[in-house]
Amino acid sequence: MPAAAAAVVVALLAASSAAAPAGGLAPHLGRRAADIGGGVAVMAAPSVVLPYPTADKLAPAVAGWASRFAPAGLPPATADDDVKHCLNPMHFAQTFDDGPSDPTPALLDELKKRNVKVTFFVVGSRVLERPDVLRRAFAEGHQIALHTWSHPHLPSVPSEQLVAEMLFTARIVKETIGVTPKFMRPPYGETDARVRSVMKRLGLVSVIWSFDSEDSAGSTTVVRDMTAFAARTPKDGPVTLEHDLFATQARQGPGATDGILAAGYKIVRLDECTGMQAYDDSLWNGFSATDGLAPVGVVPSEPAASSTTAASSSSSIAATSTSAAAAASTSPAPSSAAATTSAPAASPTQLTGVVHAPANGAASSPKTGQPAAHLGGALWAAALAVAAATLL
Ligand SMILES: [Zn+2]
Repeated sequence: MPAAAAAVVVALLAASSAAAPAGGLAPHLGRRAADIGGGVAVMAAPSVVLPYPTADKLAPAVAGWASRFAPAGLPPATADDDVKHCLNPMHFAQTFDDGPSDPTPALLDELKKRNVKVTFFVVGSRVLERPDVLRRAFAEGHQIALHTWSHPHLPSVPSEQLVAEMLFTARIVKETIGVTPKFMRPPYGETDARVRSVMKRLGLVSVIWSFDSEDSAGSTTVVRDMTAFAARTPKDGPVTLEHDLFATQARQGPGATDGILAAGYKIVRLDECTGMQAYDDSLWNGFSATDGLAPVGVVPSEPAASSTTAASSSSSIAATSTSAAAAASTSPAPSSAAATTSAPAASPTQLTGVVHAPANGAASSPKTGQPAAHLGGALWAAALAVAAATLL
C-alpha cells in the first residue's frame, strides 16, 4: 500500500548571478502548473512553475539538445537493434504502455498478489499528472521505461523534437523516482532507421514486442489470447504489449499474467530479459548550465501538503529547506549528498538527487518551487535536491 503521507522537498541554491528575469526563460519553460495540471496535486500549487510542455503537445525542440543528440550524419540503426525477445526462451517480459493512469494502481495490486514484476513504458506528461502512481510502481519493483512525452508517431517527428520527447520524459521520471530509464518503446511500435539512430545516440534501447495483446484496439479477449499465446511451443522469450491507460485494458492484465505463469514462463522485467541495466544516469552527463535542460521542478505527491510554502518561495530564490537536508541525512539513497551540495557551476544533473525519505520523516516538509521570475537560463547553475517519500 502506498504510504499515507508523502512529500517532495526541493532545495534550490542558486548562483548569486542566477536571478534571471522572467524574460530570460525559453518560450517553452515557465509554464504554470495550472496550465499543465490534470493532477490534483499539481493544481493545488498554482503559483509553482513547472518547466514541462503541456500534456498533449509535442515536446518543443531545444537547440542545445538537438545538436548533441541528433546531429547530421548519424549512422542509421537497424531493426536488429530492437528488442523483441528475451535472451532466455523461458523468460517472458510482460509490459504495459501509456500510464501512469487511474487504472494503474489496481493493476499494481494484482501484480503484487502474484509477486510479478513487469515493465511500464510511461508517458512523460502522464507522469507529471500522476507522479505518485509512478513512485508506487517503481517502489514495488517494476521497471520503468520511456514512452515519449506526448505519444506521437515518431517517424513523422523531426529529430529535434524526437530528442525533446525523450529528454523531457526522462527528466520527469528522474525527478520523480530518481533514476533514468535505459529502455524506450516508440508509440505504436513505429520506428525507422532515423528514429532508432537518435534513440541510440541518447543511449536508449528500443523495445518493440513479439506479441500484441491488441487491447489498444479494444480487444476484450486479452486473457484468452495471451494465455493461448503463452501456451504455444517452442518457447521463445516473448516480449508482449499491453496497456494500463484505460480500465478496460488494465483489468485484463492480471488474467494474462496467470496464463503466462501457467505456461511455465518466468515473468521478468526487461533488464533481466535482455541482460542490460534498467537505468543509466549517464544520459545527463555533459549537460551544461546553458543547455536549457529543464530544471527540477515540483512534483507534488500529496495534495494536502502541496501549497505550504509555494508562495513563500516566490520571495527568495534560495528556497533551501532544512527539512530537505534532514530527510537526506536519514536517507539511504546514494544521491542524498546532493541535498547539501551548493556548487553553483555544476550541471543540473550533478546537483539533482531524488532521495527516498521515510514516509513519516518528510511528511511535514513543504513542497517548494520557483516562480517564473526566478527561472532564467542561468538558473540551471543551481543546487537542487528533491526528497521524496518512498511509497511502501
Ligand atoms: Zn503507447
